[in-house]
Amino acid sequence: MKILVPVKRVIDYNVKVRVKPDQSGVELANVKMAMNPFDEIAVEQALRIKEAGQADEIILVSVGPTQSQETIRTGLAMGADRGIHIEADQETEPLSVAKCLKAVVDKEQPGLVLCGKQAIDDDSNQTGQMLSALLGWAQATFASGVELAGDNAAIIREVDGGLEHISVKMPAVITVDLRLNEPRYASLPNIMKAKKKPIDQMSAADLGVDTTPRLTTVKVEEPAARQAGIKVGSVSELVDKLKNEAKVI
Ligand code: AMP
Repeated sequence: MKILVPVKRVIDYNVKVRVKPDQSGVELANVKMAMNPFDEIAVEQALRIKEAGQADEIILVSVGPTQSQETIRTGLAMGADRGIHIEADQETEPLSVAKCLKAVVDKEQPGLVLCGKQAIDDDSNQTGQMLSALLGWAQATFASGVELAGDNAAIIREVDGGLEHISVKMPAVITVDLRLNEPRYASLPNIMKAKKKPIDQMSAADLGVDTTPRLTTVKVEEPAARQAGIKVGSVSELVDKLKNEAKVI
């Protein structure tokens, strides 16, 4: 079985994101970029499935600018087998990414697609769901446990107030949550090996996908600055303030 893992290049989660002065988006020039953290977890899970003898090949796919190949190399250094880079200059939206991924699935015929539950730049949480709809495959989102057994995948999902256990028929699209695993670091020998692993290149147009944006960003704003708190001297003062100033009790 092949496993397809879509990996997105996003601003590194340690970077303090700055809004552009014209409010058209966020500053990307000279900003450290990295693999979307949820996608690292998906790569790790694919590697564990392969190590358990339940998959033969892990293919990484990234839709984005030329530098997305660095993101693919990061996953190849973790242990994935090969990559596919789909060149797209403009910002990618979930629907066009899902259409590109569908074209790759049609060609590669994987038994499983493991995505991140969301990309930390646009926070869309849509691509995996759209892909499963386009393919007509089962989907399991927000997985914090994945066990494959024959034609089924047993999934634990994090939901409000607890864990949900579901079973889906394979082939399926599974989107992974934070607590599924802890991704490994790439070792130096694996980083060297990754340089030789193949990355196929194509454009979205080659796959017949039009990536023209359907959404228009009207304005991007910094979140409002939090107001300073106060210290109260006693419980009665706290109750008084909650009652008469905040009017919440
Ligand atoms: P989103 O729907 O944008 O929140 O993204 C959810 C997941 O879809 C990500 O964690 C990735 O696994 C995948 N994905 C989204 N955009 C891309 C992209 N441009 N290239 C590859 N994978 C992507």
